[in-house]
Amino acid sequence: MLDGHFDFGNGFHGRVYLNPHQLFRHPSTIWRFAQDLIDVLPGSILDATDVVAGPATGGALLAHTIAGLLDSRREITRPPTLFAPLTADARSGYSLSRFYRQQVKGRNVLLVDDVRNTGQTLARCAEALRSSGATLLASAEIYDRMEAIAELDVPNVALAEYKAPPNYAADSCPLCASGVPINTF
Ligand SMILES: [Zn+2]
Repeated sequence: MLDGHFDFGNGFHGRVYLNPHQLFRHPSTIWRFAQDLIDVLPGSILDATDVVAGPATGGALLAHTIAGLLDSRREITRPPTLFAPLTADARSGYSLSRFYRQQVKGRNVLLVDDVRNTGQTLARCAEALRSSGATLLASAEIYDRMEAIAELDVPNVALAEYKAPPNYAADSCPLCASGVPINTF
């Protein structure tokens, strides 16, 4: 997360720019955040989790990491935790391939993503998982922007919560008005 004066290219300017790709640039960073997220998730949810699922790309990378790390904390006799990626789909929002629909069917799923913005991505993923016969246990993310307009009917756990300051329409941006130079990212 960077502080400054940013032109988001969509007609809005703002003081804060969040780039989730920075989390994945060094794999060890996401491993550390995944461990920390596991540490704040209730034990009952972790214990019941059969599959960790997440939307491509960031959520799927995080889900893959968490699924692997969960097994390092479990009895070796227990079946290994499964992983399932959801991919963006113009028709239905998010979907699972046929292989992964079979993987999640009848299983308990923990749904994860890197950042929760409006919550709509998680809601669409939840819908795809449930329509494949999965039971959704909870959603979790590294960073919650506190702007969710779509809430799931299961617990949501965030490693960090931060409400970013508001953005401004480019033609009424107070930073532009006071001559603050625009940062590049
Ligand atoms: Zn501006």
